[in-house]
Amino acid sequence: MAENSGTNNVEFRRLQGCSTDTENMDIIFACDGAASVGQVGNHVAIDLTNAGVGARMCCTAAVGAGSDAHVNIGKRARRVIAINGCANRCVSKIMEQRGVKVAHEYVIATMGVSKIPTLDFNEADVERISKKIAEDLGYDIKAKN
Ligand code: SF4
Repeated sequence: MAENSGTNNVEFRRLQGCSTDTENMDIIFACDGAASVGQVGNHVAIDLTNAGVGARMCCTAAVGAGSDAHVNIGKRARRVIAINGCANRCVSKIMEQRGVKVAHEYVIATMGVSKIPTLDFNEADVERISKKIAEDLGYDIKAKN
């Protein structure tokens, strides 16, 4: 559902509260790394969140910084989905360090996307990987997108 943001009357879609309803949701943490693979992963997380299938992004950096609220969102989640850009697996390592159990881990660089130093990405890669993850996790995104 869209609501006025109060900023220039632009309508923003409001997300389900991740701190209030976390037990009923899969929580997605993506690295948003400053490379092709990080950007693809971030946009996959956005697409899965916007599909409205019971999965929602949460702030990976806040977990890394030790924010109790965000760590607890991860700990109470129905399932935690970690989307890493590359083999460094920064998201998964952050979760391990903060005691958040990862149910499903993905590494975009092993899914047909080369890690190159660019913030550009191919939308077709985002769509393909979003569909693959949705199939793995039982999300019906076809009806939503
Ligand atoms: S997992 Fe790779 S792309 Fe993502 S933040 Fe770490 S080094 Fe960057």
